[in-house]
Amino acid sequence: MYDLIVVGGGPGGSAVASYIAKSGKKVLLIEKETFPRFRIGESLLPYSMEIFEDLGFDKVLAEGKYIRKEGAMFVDVAKDTSCYFDFDDGGKAKYPFCYEVDREIFDKDFLEHAQSLGVEVRQPEEYVDSEFFDDHVVVKTTEGKYQTKFVIDATGSKALIHRKFVDRVANPTYSNNFSVFTQFTGVDRSFLRNEGDICIGILKNNFWSWQIPFKGESTSIGIVANQAELAAADNLEEFFEKRLEENPWLRGTLKNATRTKDFKVVSNFSYTSDKFCGKRWASVGDAMSFLDPVFSSGVHLSLMSAKLISENILHSLENETIFLDDEANIKDYNAEIKKGVSRFNNLLQLFYRGDFVEKVKNIEKKKFMTSAMTCAVSGGMWEEDNYLYRMGVL
Ligand SMILES: Cc1cc2nc3c(=O)[nH]c(=O)nc-3n(C[C@H](O)[C@H](O)[C@H](O)COP(=O)(O)OP(=O)(O)OC[C@H]3O[C@@H](n4cnc5c(N)ncnc54)[C@H](O)[C@@H]3O)c2cc1C
Repeated sequence: MYDLIVVGGGPGGSAVASYIAKSGKKVLLIEKETFPRFRIGESLLPYSMEIFEDLGFDKVLAEGKYIRKEGAMFVDVAKDTSCYFDFDDGGKAKYPFCYEVDREIFDKDFLEHAQSLGVEVRQPEEYVDSEFFDDHVVVKTTEGKYQTKFVIDATGSKALIHRKFVDRVANPTYSNNFSVFTQFTGVDRSFLRNEGDICIGILKNNFWSWQIPFKGESTSIGIVANQAELAAADNLEEFFEKRLEENPWLRGTLKNATRTKDFKVVSNFSYTSDKFCGKRWASVGDAMSFLDPVFSSGVHLSLMSAKLISENILHSLENETIFLDDEANIKDYNAEIKKGVSRFNNLLQLFYRGDFVEKVKNIEKKKFMTSAMTCAVSGGMWEEDNYLYRMGVL
């Protein structure tokens, strides 16, 4: 019998498996794809660094494959104005930086690190179903059946276990968004304060773009827009070209650039739920919730949910009558997740209401407000003393 089975080997799955295996428990992780495999979601947040440190993965990140991200720039192209969040500027993150990562490499490194901490990894192997009993869970895969005390759904947007128990609710404000993205070499980085900073372009019609520089020459470029615009274009290239025509600033950054990958498209279907755990199961990462990616919240929410539920799993393993969703457990996991998701969501509303750069400049007229914004944009959604949360702004 395993103490824990984790389904899915993305950042959420690898993190929760690592936390539990590191404590000497018997953990199995099931991942259906062979790594490296493609995933979008390349820009990390400073508050994730403490989790990497907990797991000893910060040293792998510092080995030289990944470029350091020290801040985030937002350029409003129509108004020709910009703001910059310097992660070192009064934000409270222990590490005032993080990294931009090619997910093909990062997810493989992180899963291998989990293995090095004692996680048994079965890959490629596909989860099929699970059956819940009073004192254990049976997990069925294409290869066999395994018994475990607890199971974690880290299957990303598929949410294969989560959806057995709970419905997901779409977030109507952002559910029509989609992204078209690719990679270039030779993208202009000269206007960035630090070479590894992310740059978000606020484009015409409330669309936005990202520029995420990787170590070396490659840069990830994406455009987020609403569904109607995609339907109006004949193909992805035409859609992308049209955005360059409308936004000379964006064209300027790509003046000497060469595209190295095909265009891809992903829908940004935003959803959440009322509940993220039961007696013997919990969901982490995209399996529990997904938010519009403008603030690079996805991987951080995966890691934070992994960290929070790990405390409950360890407590439940030591106390057989206490379950993951019991009040007597260490965390109220449902409440903690709702808190983090809702604060990110409030930040998104600030962005999508328009005039984001001007609003930030107004908020930041006072020095302590700069710290509060930096804390939020760095992923400090659980820092209770943040003035913006206390005042109900975020
Ligand atoms: C356009 C776009 C841009 C984004 N940009 C950013 C960004 O800059 N920064 C950021 O932090 N986030 C970003 N995100 C979000 C980010 O991609 C996700 O939040 C993150 O990948 C979630 O990690 P996860 O571990 O929960 O799930 P995933 O990374 O999706 O991993 C889930 C794993 O489960 C496996 N799996 C699925 N089904 C099964 C099965 N039946 N059996 C076994 N295994 C299975 C899959 O193969 C996969 O490996 C972006 C998202 C989008 C759409």
